[in-house]
Amino acid sequence: MKIHEYQGKELLKKFGVVVPRGVFCPSVDDAVKAAETLGGKVWVVKAQIHAGGRGKGGGVKVAKSLDEVRQYASQILGMQLVTHQTGPEGQKVRRLLIEEGADIRKEYYVAALTDRASQKVAMMASSEGGMDIEEVAHKTPEKILKVFIDPADGLTDAQATELATGIGVPAESVGKAVATLKGLYQCYMETDASLAEINPLILEGNGDIKALDAKFNFDSNALYRQAEIVAYRDLDEEDPDEVEASKFDLSYISLDGNIGCLVNGAGLAMATMDTIKLFGAEPANFLDVGGGATTEKVTEAFQIMLRNPKVKGILVNIFGGIMRCDTIATGVVAAARETHLSVPLVVRMKGTNEDIGKKILSDSGLPIITADSMADAATKIVAAVS
Ligand code: GDP
Ligand code: MN
Repeated sequence: MKIHEYQGKELLKKFGVVVPRGVFCPSVDDAVKAAETLGGKVWVVKAQIHAGGRGKGGGVKVAKSLDEVRQYASQILGMQLVTHQTGPEGQKVRRLLIEEGADIRKEYYVAALTDRASQKVAMMASSEGGMDIEEVAHKTPEKILKVFIDPADGLTDAQATELATGIGVPAESVGKAVATLKGLYQCYMETDASLAEINPLILEGNGDIKALDAKFNFDSNALYRQAEIVAYRDLDEEDPDEVEASKFDLSYISLDGNIGCLVNGAGLAMATMDTIKLFGAEPANFLDVGGGATTEKVTEAFQIMLRNPKVKGILVNIFGGIMRCDTIATGVVAAARETHLSVPLVVRMKGTNEDIGKKILSDSGLPIITADSMADAATKIVAAVS
């Protein structure tokens, strides 16, 4: 799960990380009022969407008068902001953050993240802040420093100092940078984040260290014990089909292809997508109906897949273990009827009550194409959509 920058900064602040004074604003009038209340001569108008790269896309503007605050806020609010992380269709801006301007002397990058290779939490830092970190990693990997953290010790003073001095924080500000890194680590741990990133972390003219941006990803398996984080969820920022699917306990991810897939089990779902690609087509989604698929769940799954206008055919691939093939067949027939299915449907079922399931499909009178192997199923659905 992701959250907005202004929410991320609220979290960081609780852990002692210094952030600019700022106000979350849902309207242009609120933005102007916020700037007045903050005072000063320079403000930053920032689009709040769950994607990075807003600066380059025109979603972060520095205003030098209240008139400019109004002008930029009107421009940004409601715009369809396109960044390298939103995809070409962009994301509509519904919220703004108005902040006091910062006196930037130097921009750094810092992040705490789960490093799968070492099975530890890693703290990363770079002198190349403000930029796309993937690009830094690609072109100048030596400019990214990493320390791995022993959970029993946490981030030590020595490690934090090594990072701060390594990225070139001047001696008089190292203490502040160390406190920031330790706060970031603690925040990451206590909120069950999988990524907590500050880009840029800045050195100000007066030597202060401040977080100008905040990006978080949270481990969704830990949300049951993170009520405060769950309260930050903004459904406007999530794919509506994925939100709908989660209400029915379906794991659904939208993809770009034209073959809808309905599968039980995440591993089989991935193998099915691979097989579709191997046979020359692209899946329209990942969909795992889980172990206890009911007729209602299967119908809902069909409805969600069919809402995507790109879907030109559906492949159902089921292994009947605990789940019986006849249950799935009944669900598929009911769902095909209820959704007035008009695209080709290929069904491959293996396992418990396979024969009964196949009979239900053929007795239904619906134009369902059955298949025996994965290859057979993929060949048939690819032929049907091309
Ligand atoms: P992102 O592009 O989505 O990562 O958004 P950021 O919050 O990182 O903002 C993009 C860039 O805007 C930063 O890297 C800064 O260079 C700049 N920026 C952000 N806040 C301020 C500020 O208070 N003053 C100035 N001058 N620039 C800022
Ligand atoms: Mn940033």
